[in-house]
Amino acid sequence: MLVVMQARATSDQIRTICEKIEAMGFQTHTVEGSERYAIAVTGDLRGVDTCGLEELPGVQEIIRISKPYKLVGRESKPENTIVRFPNSDVTIGGEEFAIIAGPCSVETREQTMIVAEIIAATGAKLFRGGAYKPRTSPYAFQGLGVEGLKILAEVRERFGMLIVTEAVDAEALEAIEDYADMVQIGARNMQNFSLLKRAGRSPLPVLLKRGLSATLEELLMSAEYIMSEGNRNVVLCERGVRTFADHSRNTLDLSVIPVAKKLSHLPILSDPSHGTGKRASVTPLALASAAAGADGLMIEVHHDPDHALSDGAQSLFPEQFAAMVSQLREILPVVNRTLNTTPAKGRVSREAARS
Ligand code: PEP
Ligand code: MN
Repeated sequence: MLVVMQARATSDQIRTICEKIEAMGFQTHTVEGSERYAIAVTGDLRGVDTCGLEELPGVQEIIRISKPYKLVGRESKPENTIVRFPNSDVTIGGEEFAIIAGPCSVETREQTMIVAEIIAATGAKLFRGGAYKPRTSPYAFQGLGVEGLKILAEVRERFGMLIVTEAVDAEALEAIEDYADMVQIGARNMQNFSLLKRAGRSPLPVLLKRGLSATLEELLMSAEYIMSEGNRNVVLCERGVRTFADHSRNTLDLSVIPVAKKLSHLPILSDPSHGTGKRASVTPLALASAAAGADGLMIEVHHDPDHALSDGAQSLFPEQFAAMVSQLREILPVVNRTLNTTPAKGRVSREAARS
């Protein structure tokens, strides 16, 4: 249920309505749009009518939300969500196309700095690298943990890029909050509901990747878990699903992008690296993702992919990544997007902005 307030409703009136709803045992979530202020009501609303709320001062109308994802859906918030980062002009979901790039894993300090310098030089504003790796085999490289996070924090200081990294559990998320700017919930954890709730209580924006065989509705319900705990800064990510196809690691489902954007106000990125698993397919599908309306990309890059500790076969060589960014620059104006390629170096870092 959505309680839409009149344009001239006072903050006292809004507070009174929230208190009344909470006293009935439901949760309230304020939804601030450019044209209207609304209160989304969640909880078990089966058999509950409007509870006389439409009679209260300041209320314009009560709207029933038909979809199960109450906060994620466009019914509660018609405008696109634009995710912003403190002390930074980087956005995800606005006019600016977002590129998150970097190695699959933080392997060593040297490897990470080499790749970071390459990424920064192309003007990408967000750097990725896994410090905690969800691997199919327990014997495969599992990531450097906190040591890796420290290396990522150094990348931010040196190159001014924001850091995106994956939390595989609540303990990792806790550590990531001290070092990174955005937390990634990977495909394998898309339905780890306790981790989603924990991410919902994090001050960091969350990048939520689609599960290996998740429907769009399941992805949106996982985003609802995060938002229901209070975190409004959620970005979806299509990263390919399992199909019968064996010419690629996964099948990048670009058809999900326009539908996700129709059903939800949240931004959606595309990850053609994990989506295809094959270096030669990454650039074509990155360009197609931009054309299909994705709000940005996640791309794996490595200076020496043949010796990468994870996902070398899908990692672009530096020059391939630079060429991809140039091609994107040609395509993006067609879909009314911009790409700010001012090199990140020299931009204000988080520490510098604090001092
Ligand atoms: C990753 O981004 O490195 C990763 C493990 O992705 P996914 O969860 O999509 O497999
Ligand atoms: Mn990877």
